[in-house]
Amino acid sequence: MSPWLSAGCLSVRRLYQHLKNYEACNGSNESTYWLYFELLWREYSQWYALYYSERIFLPGGISGARPDSAFDDKRFARWCRGETDWPLVNACMRQLNQTGYISNRARQIVASALINELGLDWRCGAGYFEKQLIDYDVASNWSNWQYIAGVGADPRGGRHFNIEKQARQFDPDGSFVSRWLNPRSRDLIRASVETAAG
Ligand SMILES: Cc1cc2nc3c(=O)[nH]c(=O)nc-3n(C[C@H](O)[C@H](O)[C@H](O)COP(=O)(O)OP(=O)(O)OC[C@H]3O[C@@H](n4cnc5c(N)ncnc54)[C@H](O)[C@@H]3O)c2cc1C
Repeated sequence: MSPWLSAGCLSVRRLYQHLKNYEACNGSNESTYWLYFELLWREYSQWYALYYSERIFLPGGISGARPDSAFDDKRFARWCRGETDWPLVNACMRQLNQTGYISNRARQIVASALINELGLDWRCGAGYFEKQLIDYDVASNWSNWQYIAGVGADPRGGRHFNIEKQARQFDPDGSFVSRWLNPRSRDLIRASVETAAG
């Protein structure tokens, strides 16, 4: 739903009402619960950005911390292009570059890699997402990046994802990685996108 919500084509109230009507007719289930939960998370991001205003863009976020990060254009370019040492990160970045979309889990993994493995300033990653995402939303993007960087409201500090563990858990047979890193799959995806676009 995020591209439609972020572009203002769909209001969150309408979506919520639709969800409640669906539950009234069909009963609630795990999926309806999670959709509601994620919409609350989005709502939180919106209020967070409204409340903290320009502090959502500061290096130390709302925490005022001084993150130990730097800017290295070569390392940053490798991350953007999906040419790091981690196939899972590369696959996610190439999916982002080719489609303008990646899942929440993928966003967390590549954000953690930029911050924790590459030691780069989280705002560079947030700026790159701003440029690439079809569902780009100021509040959701910058607040989620702050959360991973540990400069947001979360008292537990930042999030450091173990990339190998994530790959074992979410891509055990390597099919996601091979889909996005294999040049033949890439050509097929590009051709199908071009055909769909006419
Ligand atoms: C680093 C990072 C950057 C992000 N940048 C954006 C962004 O620019 N725009 C954006 O809309 N979302 C952003 N998200 C949140 C989330 O990844 C997307 O909303 C979600 O992947 C959209 O997929 P979906 O519509 O299938 O979501 P579902 O999982 O089906 O959730 C339903 C709706 O809930 C909301 N939602 C779900 N997860 C989150 C979350 N973690 N934070 C805020 N809202 C959420 C979205 O509106 C989403 O459409 C970001 C997350 C991270 C970790």
